[in-house]
Amino acid sequence: MELDSARTEAWLRAAAAAVTAQEAELTALDTAIGDGDHGSNLRRGFTAVLAGLDARGAEGADRSPGALLTAAGRTLISTVGGASGPLYGSALRAAGRALPGATAGPGELAAALAEALGAVQALGGARPGDKTMVDAWTPAAAAFAETAEQGLTAASGAAAAAAEQGARATVPLVARKGRASYLGPRSAGHLDPGAASTALLFTALAEACREP
Ligand code: ADP
Ligand code: MG
Repeated sequence: MELDSARTEAWLRAAAAAVTAQEAELTALDTAIGDGDHGSNLRRGFTAVLAGLDARGAEGADRSPGALLTAAGRTLISTVGGASGPLYGSALRAAGRALPGATAGPGELAAALAEALGAVQALGGARPGDKTMVDAWTPAAAAFAETAEQGLTAASGAAAAAAEQGARATVPLVARKGRASYLGPRSAGHLDPGAASTALLFTALAEACREP
């Protein structure tokens, strides 16, 4: 199986559906250690991504995986005010840039996910253990790369499980980056909202890459 236009579009649509369905939960997480806008930020951003996908379909524009991810990244950067918009936007743009072909194999997607994580870290400066989305992205990208030779379905499933586990592991951590870091030790005992939404993004990829 390859990542083609249809699967890339299904990934973005599943991500939009997940952040919309989980808006209240993401906002509750961000209310505990941030400013309570993570759910609404991502719902707004991914609603705009959906509108962009629809417009692309109507215009007959380039729908290659790279073009779709790059466009979605640009949309997130321009529509999400919070820190997470530029971070997710840069991630998707970097992944898109790394996928120039009409389809992508699991090895190519592994490289693109590594680029995406690199973009998040270049922009935000967070390292694993800082209690940010990097704590979900890092194990997810690693799990994907480690299982890529087993194919897209296995690799995306492994990445989703690793992202979920990475997100859960942020609970005891003290935040060192982002708004939650202002709380110092009081940030411990809570799940990081961006790590939780990263798990949704990887679960959406796994859904899009499931065997029919
Ligand atoms: P804001 O913090 O501006 O309100 P959001 O609430 O939308 O933005 O997103 C918060 C999430 O963004 C955090 O839970 C964290 O995962 C992520 N985040 C914040 N700063 C950074 C950073 N420097 N590097 C990586 N991720 C970050
Ligand atoms: Mg916030």
